[in-house]
Amino acid sequence: MGLTGIEIFKLTPRTNCKECGFPTCMAFSMKVASGAVEIEKCPHISDEAKAKLSEATAPPMKTITVGKGSSEKKIGGETVLFRHEKTLVNKPLIAVQFCDCISDERLEEKISNIKKVSYDRIGEHMQAEGAIVKYCGDKDKFLKVLGNVKDLELVNILYCSDAAVAKEGLELVKDTNPVLLGANSENINEMISLAKEYKATLGIEAGTIEELYSLAETAEKAGQKELIFNVGGKDIAKTFETAVETRRAALVGGDRTMGYPSIVFANTLSDGDDYLQTALASAFVLKYASIIVLDDMSYQTALPLFGLRQNIFTDPQKPMRVEPKIYEFANPKSDSPVLVTVDFALTYFVVSGEIERSKMPAWLMIPDSGGYSVLTSWAAGKFSGSVIRQMVKDSGIEEKLTVKRLVIPGKVAVLKGDIEEELPGWEIIVGPDEAMQIPKFLNELA
Ligand code: SF4
Repeated sequence: MGLTGIEIFKLTPRTNCKECGFPTCMAFSMKVASGAVEIEKCPHISDEAKAKLSEATAPPMKTITVGKGSSEKKIGGETVLFRHEKTLVNKPLIAVQFCDCISDERLEEKISNIKKVSYDRIGEHMQAEGAIVKYCGDKDKFLKVLGNVKDLELVNILYCSDAAVAKEGLELVKDTNPVLLGANSENINEMISLAKEYKATLGIEAGTIEELYSLAETAEKAGQKELIFNVGGKDIAKTFETAVETRRAALVGGDRTMGYPSIVFANTLSDGDDYLQTALASAFVLKYASIIVLDDMSYQTALPLFGLRQNIFTDPQKPMRVEPKIYEFANPKSDSPVLVTVDFALTYFVVSGEIERSKMPAWLMIPDSGGYSVLTSWAAGKFSGSVIRQMVKDSGIEEKLTVKRLVIPGKVAVLKGDIEEELPGWEIIVGPDEAMQIPKFLNELA
């Protein structure tokens, strides 16, 4: 369990020097105890006290790094059960499963499907992050599949309870920070040795939560603290129950032996039903998978799943924003109008959707306006004549235009005079109040 503010205070230098940004050591200690501030913010705390405090104030759930280089991801590290309590920090990874029973054609097809689904949404790149290869008895094929899948440069997950075969597989993916799944009560010691030798995260599985706990204790005692729980049970209900119980034991009960990320096989649970697979994967995004395994990747699965995941794993206190820049619609020309609005993601999607619907060529200028709605940004001074002028200059849009027409949202018609002063030579046009009127407006403007 964590230390109280008073206990932390006793370990600080108690000089009230304010270098941590707080007026007193006591104020700083209270914030550390609540988890709002890292102990490292105090530059004067001794290494001994820091080590003691870091251990005591560490999150109840361990953060594990898997993958390497461009595929590196963090999982776990959550401090709350629900997004509205604070924020969820490390989104679950989506992995696609392969096995040594797969035909060469299907292997190629799955690899191609993974590569196909790759797109950006609100500043985040969406694609499968992991590839899991299951050993079903054909060692040569297992190693061949693993070799092919490795080239995808995703997080490599080996699902193999045969330690000798797992060792050969790990040789193939060494130095990629892989996950070795398949440790159980019969092979735990060999698997721990392998995980330590190859610096892999060890995935453990058991028939009951008590057994899972005991295996985690064994691994911890042996110094293997990079763990992941396979919480999959014999059916959906049991899997869900284990996922929730382990997470609650760590975050509510403060039991760090239960504080590890989890993996859920949505593909196995859905038994070939693609719709059920997506529904289950969505349920486990909410509670509480750290890696979700699918049978294949497609846009039908990815769009709802990644969209949900992005919404759940964003800080509710920070508005979702799109990148400030000039967006182009229907190959705009030098005489196409420039519409301007704010960088709040919801506003962007509504406005851009209506511009697309109009089928009219247009530029859409998005300045850095704080991530708020149009009226809030305007009221906060973040969507003003000077902000828009600066964006016009920084973006270089003027050089692409022979006719300079700027359409501002109808709700901030009051900005017209201000912008006219800031942008001489531009015609400032007040657009519609509501985005749904944009298609009619653009057609009439043409
Ligand atoms: S920096 Fe350290 S010593 Fe200074 S006020 Fe903060 S907690 Fe106290």
